[in-house]
Amino acid sequence: MFRFPLLAATGSIARGEYFSPAKKAIFSSSSVFRVVSAVFTAKSFSSKVSPTQPPQLDRQKIKDALKGSDPDLKDILENSGNWAQQVCKGQSPNYLYIGCCDARVDPTVLMNVNYGDLFIHRNVGNLVCGSDLNVLSAIEFAVTRLHVPHIIVCGHYDCGAVRSSYKQMDHGIIENWIRNIRDVQRTHHVELNPIKDEDEKHRKLVEFNVIEQCLNVLKTGCVQRTRMKSYKEQGLALPRVHALVFDPAAGTLKKLDVNWKGETKEFDYIYNLYPEDGGNSR
Ligand SMILES: [Zn+2]
Repeated sequence: MFRFPLLAATGSIARGEYFSPAKKAIFSSSSVFRVVSAVFTAKSFSSKVSPTQPPQLDRQKIKDALKGSDPDLKDILENSGNWAQQVCKGQSPNYLYIGCCDARVDPTVLMNVNYGDLFIHRNVGNLVCGSDLNVLSAIEFAVTRLHVPHIIVCGHYDCGAVRSSYKQMDHGIIENWIRNIRDVQRTHHVELNPIKDEDEKHRKLVEFNVIEQCLNVLKTGCVQRTRMKSYKEQGLALPRVHALVFDPAAGTLKKLDVNWKGETKEFDYIYNLYPEDGGNSR
């Protein structure tokens, strides 16, 4: 359910081809890509809930939400021509999307792609950890079975996980997860420490975190193996990895300009699992 007409994407999603009349009305209300409506403010999306405020239980709302997909699916199947037939053939996404669980960062709304283009994995803080079988399985499946040519790691400003990593406190079980972002802080402390403005520092850490997770993707054996094979056969190393950051306050999606070759070159002798000389030069 799209309560906020935040972002009108171009392409088939913007045209509302795959959505119910209600959703079509929302999408057709704006023709400009990534236009932020008046209701879309950082305040309106604040995740902070006052502890004194009693929880409101709108039973009808919940009921509607839970049964919401039925009429939509019916609408899709009846009105979308060969789309249903294509979907029945199986998935063929162009992107593996790895993003944060934050409710404001919905990849199907943010990304300017067609329905079915995203193979999605989300976790707190958009992390790619070498010990997380969940994300590693998603990567391996997307790369070796679905042959996605692009992998996106998308972070966002005002990220609770990143903010938590600045606090000197034990967050409980999630602390073990957040520690991965503390490690990003340590890795980039030379760049981060001189920044006095807290918000600016937060934004910078969000960006560093996304870049480090992209590097973690590139460190995996299956991605390296697939890129090497693709380069030998087609002259182009695929899948490519992209670093994105969503700004909830501005309603914009930013691609980080990263020189991946430069980023990986220095530690190539550590992380390159398929060196041309077989590793004999060490
Ligand atoms: Zn987040």
